[in-house]
Amino acid sequence: MPERQSRGAVYLEDRHSPTTTTTSSTTPTTTTTSGPATAASWSQLGASLAGSLVLASNPRYAIDRQLYNSKFVNLHPRAIAYCATSDDVARCIDFATSHDIAIAGRSGGHSYGGYSNSDGLVIDVSRMASISVDTAANTARVGAGARLIDVYNVIGNTNRLLPGGSCPSVGIAGLALGGGIGVFGRKFGLTTDSIRSLNIVTADGQIVTADASANSDLLWASQGGGGGNFGIVTSFEFNVHPMPEMTLFTLQYPWAAASTMLSAWGLWINGAPDELWSNCQLLSQGTYGYLPQIAGVYCGSPSELASVLAPLQSMIGTAPTYSFSGSNSYLSAMEIEAGCSGLSIAACHLTTQNPAGRLGREAYSAKSSYVNAPMNDASVATLIDAVENLHAHAPTVGGGLAFDSYGGAINRVASDATAFVHRDKLACIQATYSWSSYTSPSVIAAGAQWLTWLGANVFDPTSGAYQNYIDPTLTNWPNAYYGSNLPRLVSIKSKYDPENLFTFAQSIPAHARGV
Ligand SMILES: Cc1cc2nc3c(=O)[nH]c(=O)nc-3n(C[C@H](O)[C@H](O)[C@H](O)COP(=O)(O)OP(=O)(O)OC[C@H]3O[C@@H](n4cnc5c(N)ncnc54)[C@H](O)[C@@H]3O)c2cc1C
Repeated sequence: MPERQSRGAVYLEDRHSPTTTTTSSTTPTTTTTSGPATAASWSQLGASLAGSLVLASNPRYAIDRQLYNSKFVNLHPRAIAYCATSDDVARCIDFATSHDIAIAGRSGGHSYGGYSNSDGLVIDVSRMASISVDTAANTARVGAGARLIDVYNVIGNTNRLLPGGSCPSVGIAGLALGGGIGVFGRKFGLTTDSIRSLNIVTADGQIVTADASANSDLLWASQGGGGGNFGIVTSFEFNVHPMPEMTLFTLQYPWAAASTMLSAWGLWINGAPDELWSNCQLLSQGTYGYLPQIAGVYCGSPSELASVLAPLQSMIGTAPTYSFSGSNSYLSAMEIEAGCSGLSIAACHLTTQNPAGRLGREAYSAKSSYVNAPMNDASVATLIDAVENLHAHAPTVGGGLAFDSYGGAINRVASDATAFVHRDKLACIQATYSWSSYTSPSVIAAGAQWLTWLGANVFDPTSGAYQNYIDPTLTNWPNAYYGSNLPRLVSIKSKYDPENLFTFAQSIPAHARGV
């Protein structure tokens, strides 16, 4: 039987007794271990749930154990619990504690590290996916298992929005708990900045509300502390924002202009209005060559965007090979960002997650870093070389570097106001490479070597890394993800999960024994 491991911490422990001030659980909680789980006890657990339990013997198991990233093939949880209520979650936690079984929460299953899998019990929240909007209060209640495309659709239909991310099948829980960067980030902040309150089942099986007045430390930790650390969230209440007019744009350039494009983008975005969000991509597309491009969303009209784009184009000084800009409805903009333009909402889901879904899974690896200021010529040259290096050594792999703009509303939040510490950055850099089932193992290995080389030689180890691009190869991850907020996160972990029930390779530790 897999056993939970106590993990160490880099910081001195500050233990508190758990004080859950708002609880509504009627589920009995126990920390007494009652021995290994038997077939009968699993069956009792299944029968006790309002949702359902999928054991390895169930024909659905082969599909239900999958995560989004198809590189994770070796996933063998003992069971997957599709919890329909917070009480279901509490029962699962009680069961895992009683039988000393490892657990992991799962929302959309998009963890880059595969950390929503467990050898024991996967607590899946996708049945808790209802979304409702209070238009008078400008708030939305969102079940922790809702997928982003459904969040955009329901909230968008009320002429309001929640700042989110790009991928339509990402779960709201993983996105919001770790940050949530998207096209409205500079105007309205991160997804996590819009959390007002959340319901969470803690390690002692209590159903707790965390908001500004009750368990506010748990709310603070849940705003950027990352999924899987403090409990299983079952629902969120978010602030929603007025729908602006929006204009999308894309500019593509020849590779010969890539370095000028990157330099100009850094200077341009540094001084841009909040209404502009943009990313800059330097992509190697295998046999299709390179694709350097700048894209984004402007909260305003096409003519206003044209005047915002003019200084960028003048700095680049080369005519784009492709140029597009046009006004869009919110939903159509989000579908374009999500890569499912022209599909129905039902089709904009994974085939494995929704019977009407048309989207497939992907295999990829990634690494992130941050840029603090516009890049100088030497930095730009190094980054361009890095993409050329990928192209030369892993030619049939798609990948490269993508710079997502921060600033604006993201950076106006103090770095200690929430657990999300990266508040002084110009942009997050994400390096990715992806492959298909036809890609040779040697090319996949070359892509992995490229990421390792990048981490050691190109990325600044002191600039941090984005916890939602969680990176199992990162050794300094506690500081990279959490920086100066790490000691407080460890303290809150010690208070709410002193026995490290919620543990995975990069979970925030509750104890001070050294990682
Ligand atoms: C294709 C793709 C596109 C992406 N685009 C963006 C983007 O535009 N912007 C951005 O910011 N990020 C983006 N991400 C990263 C994404 O935010 C993270 O991968 C996020 O963790 C995924 O959330 P999830 O719920 O789908 O994943 P899961 O794998 O289900 O969960 C992620 C982590 O949270 C934990 N968790 C899950 N549910 C709960 C819960 N209910 N309570 C507590 N913990 C829980 C899991 O145990 C795991 O540790 C993208 C990822 C992918 C794969």
